[in-house]
Amino acid sequence: MIKPRNCEVILNYDCNAKCRFCYHPEAVLNQVAERMPFAKAAEALYKGRREKCWVAYLIGGEITMRPDLPKIVRIARDMGYPYVQVMSNGLKLADPAYARELVEAGANIFRVSVHGPDAATHDALVGVPGAFKKVMKAFDNLTRLGAEISVNHALNKRNYKKLKPLLEIISGRFGIEDFNVIFPHYNGMMAARASELKVSVTQAVPYVREALAYLKDSGAAIEDTVLVNFTPCNLPEAVHLMAEWERPAGTKDEPLFHIDGREDRIHGLKERLCLKNKGCEACIYNARCMGFEKWYSDLFGGSEFRPVRKPAVPFPLVPSHNRLKRAQVLLKKKGLRADAGAGLAKPCRRPELA
Ligand code: SF4
Repeated sequence: MIKPRNCEVILNYDCNAKCRFCYHPEAVLNQVAERMPFAKAAEALYKGRREKCWVAYLIGGEITMRPDLPKIVRIARDMGYPYVQVMSNGLKLADPAYARELVEAGANIFRVSVHGPDAATHDALVGVPGAFKKVMKAFDNLTRLGAEISVNHALNKRNYKKLKPLLEIISGRFGIEDFNVIFPHYNGMMAARASELKVSVTQAVPYVREALAYLKDSGAAIEDTVLVNFTPCNLPEAVHLMAEWERPAGTKDEPLFHIDGREDRIHGLKERLCLKNKGCEACIYNARCMGFEKWYSDLFGGSEFRPVRKPAVPFPLVPSHNRLKRAQVLLKKKGLRADAGAGLAKPCRRPELA
């Protein structure tokens, strides 16, 4: 199965929420002046498309703060990206007219953040009263519009025991198959508020296991990997359900464009943030694993990362890749070949920046 490559573009840092765990430092938030200029965003998307990326992945900050977001979405589709993914806290997507405007511009995947299974947990974590209700409304709007929904969930001390009830909502109630349970990056506000929010791998893992068991027992479909910023030694039975722990093999690392237009690589960036223990040398994943984050080590040390000596029996939950299969059908209908970079046999159009 050929997986789509992402081109990630950081469009801005300003935000209409005040997440207590935001991995940006407070100083960069609400800096409207630091938005990536439209021409730079278009150029970054063009470069990603020339690298045969399928998914224009637009991230922030909160990108719906930009009045020109529909224009950026449209230009990405004009370049031939079959998928434009909007990452959002969901607040503005509660407005059906705005959600429709983005879908009509060409956005077809919405990655929305939900940080608890109830208003008390989510609203307190994102610092916006009424936010949970708006996210639920955003899901309703996007479902009605036929857009694909993905979810990001940032684990921390206030929510890590509530993962199963959260999945009962996003998977059980809304039938969302694509979600990321993200172990904390102890950077920015998350590091500044570590005493209030920190949770260790050892504390979190039993609740992750409870959530995986719920998914299996309920017969839920999952699109792809569901655990981010974990390492194989944390949950050896769930390695096949983890993303971003492994050096990319055989394929070129995916591009990430910073707000100043600087070009980076997703896994290259992650690897620069990681370190390993002496014991890692004895681990069967050592050659593939990028290690654990230095920020984590600063708070908890590295003693929880112990070598895996032999592969564990995989937890019986397997990604469906339903979306990917739908993508393949869509490309075929358009006469495009997935392995040729979704139609890049012919050159994509450089944007006109009138
Ligand atoms: S290489 Fe180290 S960090 Fe990676 S899975 Fe093995 S023990 Fe854990």
